[in-house]
Amino acid sequence: MAELRQAPLGHRRGSLFFELIVGLLGLLWGSHGLGLDYVPGEVLVRYKDHSMSHPSKVVAKAQQKGLILKHSWPGLNMHQFQMKPGGNQGVGAKIEELLQDPDVLYAEPNYILRKASIAEADLHRYSFSEVDALRRAQSTEYAMTGANIQAPEAWSLITAGSSKSVVAIIDTGVDYHHSVFQLSDAIWVNPGEVPGNKIDDDGNGYIDDVHGWNFVFNNGEPLDDDGHGTHVAGTVLGVGQDIFTDPISESKIEIMVLKFLDANGSGTTAAAIQAIYYAVNHGAKVINNSWGGGSYSASLHEAIVYSYNQGVLFVAAAGNEGSDNDRYPLYPASYDVPNVLSIAASTDSDILASFSNFGKVSVDVGSPGVSIFSTFPNDTFGYSSGTSMATPFVSGLAALIVRESPEMTPYQVKNIIMNNGTSVTKLNGKLVSSSRIDVLKAIQVAQGAEIWDSMPSYDFSLSTQDRDLASTFSSSGGGGCGLVQKIDSRGDGDLWWVTPLLFLVFFCLPLIVALRLRHQTSSMNHLSNRRYQRYLIDSKIAIQVDGREIVGSVNSISLGGLGFNADALIRSGGTVAMTIFSPDGKEKVEVEGRVVWSENQKSYGVQFSGDGKASVIQTIGQWTSQLLKI
Ligand code: CA
Repeated sequence: MAELRQAPLGHRRGSLFFELIVGLLGLLWGSHGLGLDYVPGEVLVRYKDHSMSHPSKVVAKAQQKGLILKHSWPGLNMHQFQMKPGGNQGVGAKIEELLQDPDVLYAEPNYILRKASIAEADLHRYSFSEVDALRRAQSTEYAMTGANIQAPEAWSLITAGSSKSVVAIIDTGVDYHHSVFQLSDAIWVNPGEVPGNKIDDDGNGYIDDVHGWNFVFNNGEPLDDDGHGTHVAGTVLGVGQDIFTDPISESKIEIMVLKFLDANGSGTTAAAIQAIYYAVNHGAKVINNSWGGGSYSASLHEAIVYSYNQGVLFVAAAGNEGSDNDRYPLYPASYDVPNVLSIAASTDSDILASFSNFGKVSVDVGSPGVSIFSTFPNDTFGYSSGTSMATPFVSGLAALIVRESPEMTPYQVKNIIMNNGTSVTKLNGKLVSSSRIDVLKAIQVAQGAEIWDSMPSYDFSLSTQDRDLASTFSSSGGGGCGLVQKIDSRGDGDLWWVTPLLFLVFFCLPLIVALRLRHQTSSMNHLSNRRYQRYLIDSKIAIQVDGREIVGSVNSISLGGLGFNADALIRSGGTVAMTIFSPDGKEKVEVEGRVVWSENQKSYGVQFSGDGKASVIQTIGQWTSQLLKI
């Protein structure tokens, strides 16, 4: 896709009518036209914690401000509103008005997001028999696994067994009837839902969500009316097995299908966020995000932080404008949450694809993204290109690593993928890792890796301290034109009945859902094979390193190690002597540890080592009984 970014929005504040007209012009003019990149008349509002906690307050305030509630996020105090029709206020003015309210943490437009593939020269859809013929002719051209990422070489290493890691594909949907997915049994099935009985059996707020959810049409059939998501899904599956062979073998992963992009490949931030929460709350360990656009969105940022804290890896396409993401961030790939893995597209000759975005500090690793052969709807196959196509190779690899080591944090999985690729001179200075992924090497390393018992702490509110959340709308950057491909006109007409109905649907139901999800999440945490439970802690630490003492603060701790922040440079791999203080500062223990990871020279992870470990662990065990689990 060529139009990931939007034009600055600040000057476009006008009436809703004006926005609709401009949006329609955008539709008529196609991707080269003038367009908005947010849904006209819609705003996302996050109230501060502990304010507006009662649903009736939100409804009353919305009424007062001329807003209709469309959706609420359980437990988040975040809401999607539709401006009442007939008003002459634009989204920008409405946001400015909302920001005057001291209860509002942030308010922003509902940005439009788009798939990250580019126009393909070869639009032919190959049948099974054509693929067979290609294979018999021993053509390697068709084989997506023919790229030099050493995927087939890794297959014999992968541990046999029935456990499958779940990859959520947040995209245009997936043709889950495709024989490749059906015969390999690769589609995730919601264990709590009885198909087709029109009942929300598991009480999660979604009726008949058997394989995921369709956030465009709000139903349980997230089939693919574009082709993009099906292609992405085939690639994710194909990292771990030959998807072109007959008979196909049992899959090692499961694909959760979350459709939020429509038949034109566009969707809204509100829908993307709902999909992210769904993925995390229903057990996905990896989320594939072959899409981007819009401006910085605090609500999307916050959803990604949630995925990080729940142990999920967020793999995202770097974008297709051939531009530098360090200078012009592309979201969601550019959110600096430690579980975001930003993917550039490389060619067969290991140079950066001409269209691929790059970024020395913000784009992590390269992966093949030119003329990738994979599944398309209706039992066909075909080629597609874009960072969209590079991303699922990495998601597939991550899923295999998670399957080998279910207790590994997303941060460690990300590090393994970045540090065990093939170093490519041409990618030097373009990507953080200067590498293209290597499936064989990454899986080998993952299998022998010691599990890190900590990961960098990431606090959403701290991360936004330097960012004026109140002005995200007007400060949006980036060039190019957008295209409004979805104008939601619901809310027109006489809608007196909408508010009471929405009250029931979006407040009473989410309350039940929140309780259910809490229950589900805690059972999932219990089941997840994490070696040691991690706890949040705020205490002092003194580290002896290279003959000097550094004082820092511990942010997480387990019986295996801890994470701490210190304003100092400490090498990874070295052994340090630590004095750790209890949260109340009254007790202290001394123990040795090995620095296993470091982030931006401020945040570190240490594994306990040495002879004195056992007695220290006993004391720490007493401390943790008072601490919050993470
Ligand atoms: Ca359900």
